[in-house]
Amino acid sequence: MHKKITCNKDNLIIEAMQVINDNGIGVVFIIDNDERLYGIATDGDIRRALLNNIGLETKIGMIANRDFIYGFIDDTYETLAGKTSKRINTIPLLSKENKVIDYFRLPQDIYFPVAAPYLRGNEFKYITDAFLSTWISSSGHYIDRFENDFSQFCGRKYGIATSNGTCALHLALLALGIGSGDEVIIPDLTFAATINSVLHSNATPVIVDIEEDSWCIDPECIERAISPRTKAIIPVHLYGQPAAMDRIMTIANKHNLYVIEDCAEAHGALFNNQPVGSFGDVSCFSFYGNKILTTGEGGMCLTNSDKHRDAMQLLRDHGMSKQKRYWHEIIGYNYRMTNIQAAIGCAQLERIDQILHAREEYENYYVNELNECPNVTFQDSKLPLRKKVTWLVSMLLGSQADRDSAISKLQSNGIDARPFFYPLSTMDIYRNYLHSNKTSIGIASRGINLPTYADPAHLREIKRNVDLIKSAFE
Ligand SMILES: *Cc1c(COP(=O)(O)O)cnc(C)c1O
Repeated sequence: MHKKITCNKDNLIIEAMQVINDNGIGVVFIIDNDERLYGIATDGDIRRALLNNIGLETKIGMIANRDFIYGFIDDTYETLAGKTSKRINTIPLLSKENKVIDYFRLPQDIYFPVAAPYLRGNEFKYITDAFLSTWISSSGHYIDRFENDFSQFCGRKYGIATSNGTCALHLALLALGIGSGDEVIIPDLTFAATINSVLHSNATPVIVDIEEDSWCIDPECIERAISPRTKAIIPVHLYGQPAAMDRIMTIANKHNLYVIEDCAEAHGALFNNQPVGSFGDVSCFSFYGNKILTTGEGGMCLTNSDKHRDAMQLLRDHGMSKQKRYWHEIIGYNYRMTNIQAAIGCAQLERIDQILHAREEYENYYVNELNECPNVTFQDSKLPLRKKVTWLVSMLLGSQADRDSAISKLQSNGIDARPFFYPLSTMDIYRNYLHSNKTSIGIASRGINLPTYADPAHLREIKRNVDLIKSAFE
């Protein structure tokens, strides 16, 4: 504790004012000659005393508030937060001998970002290990371990770690030989990286509509969009919900199309008891800071095919021959992940069950609290065959106007709720690739994501602010 926060009850008001002025917390704790807490005076108390003609030379003990709230230095955050309020937001913390040794201040401006990484496992230990080993670039044992462990977690033979999820998608398209003149079918409702990766590989995206219940790509719309030039489908497991992989795989097999799963938002989700990422020819994950499992920036391609693995490894590493150094067989990329990123990923993956469970608790909590609000529909967690995971808790409101007003109410209270992605087909740069989009337009305009974390401590804070959150939906 560096700031002076106490003064003796025999000090003068003017001296107490000096302490408040210096400590900047708006309050001074007044102690007796045994250094025990005697009372509290805020800057407001002093101002009121002066207005009542009490002079600056009066002893501060005379105006001290003796009916005060305090905490103990060993109290938990929960206890202290429970003792404080918007009005009384700063309280003294006492030792067992009732001496003032610190203070607690309730954070004034609540702020819940929509996502925050949770790095309380072995993340720091493994980064430090990678750092001290000096293997901070794109080789090192954390890379191998992360590729092995993550591909195993998803039930696939090979993992190819990448710099981010967008280049994982690009790498998958390149490795499958998809390029100019080829069409790739993608859903209208997704993050732009899905379509950008198709455009980066010079192929033509074909945007199709989503299902009303799952919000994922609609297999019927896929079938209608297939042309002689169609080469691949990229289903996106949106907001943690698995796409209809049984029907999508049937269509792909029937028409001899590749499937690249975009699993960026659904680590650990299951379709028919099988992990997402284990269906397609190649599946792509993102480990960006707001994703279920994060490495800061990062991504991975998974495959069972030796041929596709080799192609992706070659493309990822400048197209350079593994046998002959500086001999380039194809025009490659530098899409590698660093050992430091992989170190974080290994630590995250160790706790994936805990992370998924904690996120689900957020969803259950929001569902319980907000289900009764008018026109609120949560993402469907009971669709047959699908076991979704919680990425960002997602819900629909009755109309776009309701949605927009709820978001602005939440945001003005420091709660960073977000609208769904805009349908790709509504943006000028992608409009030309539209095939069908009726359902996506309606759903995207009514959708909200609520703050969702893996840290159980944040949930307790959200619970304390539940009335604020509820009021936005009433
Ligand atoms: C986040 C995301 C990506 C891109 O991942 P980055 O690691 O940010 O490049 C791709 N697709 C979807 C659906 C995503 O949500």
